[in-house]
Amino acid sequence: MSANKKLYDEIFRLLYEHHKWFSESLPLIASENVPSPGVREALASDLGNRYAEGWPGERVYAGCTYIDQIELLAIETAKRLFSCEFVDVRPVSGVCANLAIYTAFTLPGDYMICLSIPCGGHISTGKMELGGTAGAVHGLKIEYFPFNYEEMNIDVDLTKKKVEELEKNGVKIKLAMFGGSVLLFPQPLKELASFLKEKGMFVCYDAAHVIGLVAGKQFQDPLREGADAVTCSTHKTLFGPQGGMIMSYEKFAEKIKKAVFPGNVSNHHLHSVAAKAIALTEMLEFGEEYAAQIVKNSKAFAEALAEKGLKVLGEKNGFTKSHVVLVDITKYGLGGDLERKLEKANIICNRNLLPWDIKEGRHFANPGGLRFGVSEVTRLGMKENEMKEIAGFITDIIVRNKDVEEVKKKVIEFRKGYQKVHFCFEPTRGAHEYIRIR
Ligand SMILES: *Cc1c(COP(=O)(O)O)cnc(C)c1O
Repeated sequence: MSANKKLYDEIFRLLYEHHKWFSESLPLIASENVPSPGVREALASDLGNRYAEGWPGERVYAGCTYIDQIELLAIETAKRLFSCEFVDVRPVSGVCANLAIYTAFTLPGDYMICLSIPCGGHISTGKMELGGTAGAVHGLKIEYFPFNYEEMNIDVDLTKKKVEELEKNGVKIKLAMFGGSVLLFPQPLKELASFLKEKGMFVCYDAAHVIGLVAGKQFQDPLREGADAVTCSTHKTLFGPQGGMIMSYEKFAEKIKKAVFPGNVSNHHLHSVAAKAIALTEMLEFGEEYAAQIVKNSKAFAEALAEKGLKVLGEKNGFTKSHVVLVDITKYGLGGDLERKLEKANIICNRNLLPWDIKEGRHFANPGGLRFGVSEVTRLGMKENEMKEIAGFITDIIVRNKDVEEVKKKVIEFRKGYQKVHFCFEPTRGAHEYIRIR
């Protein structure tokens, strides 16, 4: 066998191993999910090798007869799902969707207000000094929303005060970006939107994480609460392919379309558009039931972790109203160390900064927190009782210091009962099954 064929085979072997490992694991990363066999089939289609720059019907290339119909169906389905006037399904990721909003509604040097990263903000809204997309790529200057640690939320009164004071000092903010990567609770968008708009801001809500809960009517609906636009990823609580999307009003459509193409994408990953269309139809059919189960599961999971000795954040407001649970593990160790230890037991989660970590001298490599998300295990068919069992495995490792190999065996056994994708039309294949088409 040639050395190159060996290399080729080795890549497939690793892919296979990854699938096997995930089929025996507890996937608890809040930004991840498992797609249906339908979404996976669309991703493997020929569309992944085609070009279709521009808008359906106004393409730069021939060959788009079916591609256009699929993209229009994706747009129409998203409009129905989110009851909105305008949707752009072309952003190739959540970051790309945010960049399109920056491009459409700000100039380099303008100011944006958003969450800081330790308080749950995302690097795509980050400062130049952090290498964040907003600062480093689009040249935005960043101010942060004042954040209340006990409420784990934006402070309305302090935000108004801050905006007024900045204005007095000659700083006019152009863009307010709500949303974030650790959203335990709905944000006070209703309370702030009209104030911020009167100050001349475009109000956007980055729903990368929570858009599947919005679709299922289990979380705040940003467009109804005053947002001018919503950006999102299509693969977090929305269980589609990796990608992005923008929802807004007709009056902003032309600016957004231009900012997406030619501004931030050339070709826009057409297999992903087809897979988005599939996932959106699944959401229309199953979204409410799915999202309601997620919210029940995360609450049950948070309560079980707290009962078993972990300090779960957001206690004052019932720990969580989303898919996310954030835990302060400093009593038992640090985030990086415990993330790796849990991984050895086939429990996959991620370390996360706590709002006060930087002040206390901790940083991202080994922060004080662990973040868990229950979207994927919910899609695997797990309910409140299973959440208690998972909380048991986690605290066996973190609190009771049990043998990692022993816990891993239990996890593999437990996971055997949850091998199919739920909330989809055709649960034909194993959720993490490796599908061979060679
Ligand atoms: C995940 C995330 C993004 C980025 O999305 P990608 O699809 O990974 O590019 C943007 N904003 C927030 C708040 C996120 O959590």
